Amino acid sequence: MSPHVSDRLSEYMDGALGVQDVERVRAHLDTCPACLQEYRGLQDVQQLLRGLPAPHPREGFMERTHWRLAREAAAQPARARFLSGLREAFAVRPFRVALVAGALVVVALPIVWMTGSMGPREVPLDSDAYVRHYVMLSVDRPLADEATSTFVSSDLPEQPIR
Ligand SMILES: [Zn+2]
Repeated sequence: MSPHVSDRLSEYMDGALGVQDVERVRAHLDTCPACLQEYRGLQDVQQLLRGLPAPHPREGFMERTHWRLAREAAAQPARARFLSGLREAFAVRPFRVALVAGALVVVALPIVWMTGSMGPREVPLDSDAYVRHYVMLSVDRPLADEATSTFVSSDLPEQPIR
């Protein structure tokens, strides 16, 4: 134990120490300026606190407090039951897995929808443009025939016939 008494000063001031401890603290305060200074500081704080006006609770404070306590007490069992039930359910492994999977779906689905990686988005299908695109892609391939070239060039007049 430290020879200093700073950790006992509060109890000393409250009269919460036994006779032996009181004697020890008192003797130490006579010889130790550091502890004495701390003791004086605590006395000052105590003095300040005593100088504060006593708090006056508003009208009906006790009634409100009783009512709130009663309400809390009534709500406690239901809440405790719900929480313990949740805890038990969560302790079951399949439920935990399902919960995590569900959470993942809930988080991931909007993202997938927003990024449009879920598949083609709802765009009016322009089949003509699609065919044209396909033909243009295949025009360089060996099997591209005259008809294909004609089709492509007819669609793009400024482009020279290959
Ligand atoms: Zn000391």
